[in-house]
Amino acid sequence: MRTIRLHDTGSGAVVDLEPREPGKVGIYACGPTVYNRIHIGNARPFVVFSLLTRFLEHEGYDVTFVANVTDVNDKIYDAARPLGIPSDDLAREMTAHYVQDTDGLGIGRPDAEPLASETIDGIVALIQALVDKGNAYAVDGDVYFRVRSDPEYGALSHRRVDDMDQGEGVEGADRKEDPLDFALWKAQKPGEDTAWDAPWGRGRPGWHIECSAMAEDLLGVGFEIHGGGSDLIFPHHENEAAQTRMARGAELTRIWMHNGMLQLAGEKMAKSVGNIESLADALERWGRDAIILLFVSAHYRQPMQYSEETLGAARTGVRRLREAARLLAPGPSPEDMAPLKERFFAALADDFRTPEALAAVWDWVRESNRRGGVGGDDLREMLGVLALDNLLTGDAAGDGPDGDAQELLARREAARAARDWAEADRLRDELAAQGWQVRDSAAGPELVRAER
Ligand SMILES: [Zn+2]
Repeated sequence: MRTIRLHDTGSGAVVDLEPREPGKVGIYACGPTVYNRIHIGNARPFVVFSLLTRFLEHEGYDVTFVANVTDVNDKIYDAARPLGIPSDDLAREMTAHYVQDTDGLGIGRPDAEPLASETIDGIVALIQALVDKGNAYAVDGDVYFRVRSDPEYGALSHRRVDDMDQGEGVEGADRKEDPLDFALWKAQKPGEDTAWDAPWGRGRPGWHIECSAMAEDLLGVGFEIHGGGSDLIFPHHENEAAQTRMARGAELTRIWMHNGMLQLAGEKMAKSVGNIESLADALERWGRDAIILLFVSAHYRQPMQYSEETLGAARTGVRRLREAARLLAPGPSPEDMAPLKERFFAALADDFRTPEALAAVWDWVRESNRRGGVGGDDLREMLGVLALDNLLTGDAAGDGPDGDAQELLARREAARAARDWAEADRLRDELAAQGWQVRDSAAGPELVRAER
């Protein structure tokens, strides 16, 4: 087995993946808070950790990938109120959208997708353990974590305790022993329509404890990889780590892996900045192939530029792969090209460096083209790990025209309607170059795979 090395935020170093049990890996990645449709930036951890799972499975590991859904949260109450609908209805609706939108990525689903609302018993038990050990205290139906009771607090985010702000504002400020403490349980307030009974009174959990409980419930304590966006390092992950450390006397996870943010026009994509594109719109506009290729062309730790230019380049890449596929023969690849495949997998084993892995793919494609096409097995194996092997089997079931082709078809129809025949012909040729033929049917024009 190849040694897998990954960057761990806690130690600030690239470390060996050393599973608790040889050959078995548990991955927990923080999922969305379901109060609206997810944007393309929210999709990055889903893609990164789904593809990491594929790679580890390729390397022979038995992987359990867990990605939660935060369906109990202040943001959901705040979003449901003006709509005049129950917050659990909104959460259910947005969870269904999340599943549908991420299904559009075509990279499969995590092994488990726990809901906070279905893990309340585990959450209450974990809070109780913290209260019993003196690391948490109840006040007026709320329960707070006593941050200064954890001597390791701040180790993950590399912050000094005195410089920290939990971001809870004035909420609970008069009840906290120390402004640094954060909420584990919040007493039900007027206007909050979901609540559960607990030893401290009716209420609902805080965000951080939900993840500690869901992760432990499915993966145990000390599992291999905890992932999420780098914006979650503090306070969310620092607090998850502290809760489990104090309640269980052991670390929640071995490696903390964080992905960089998506940037649009040089700024972090965020609802608060207003520069967001929904995942559904992005898939519709660009097609899943270009989106996946864009994601893997940046290293997961770096910020990723989301722009017409980067997506245009990804689209061109998708086209080049499809074109190369047409020359491939079935069966084994030449042995003297094996070092390119080795380069691909070695790059992934070294902190999941997908850009270097992709460079090996392009070198492989160039060499295959130079030889007029070779056996495609190695390329299929490499692209399979990146969830792009569909590009090699254009006529396989389920590989309909992507957003790119559909957009070209729509533009061709618009050109025909405007009697711009030259433009219509040019677009028809462009579709043909991508392997699509326009066929007129009773229901209007449709795309079918061109004869090869
Ligand atoms: Zn989380």
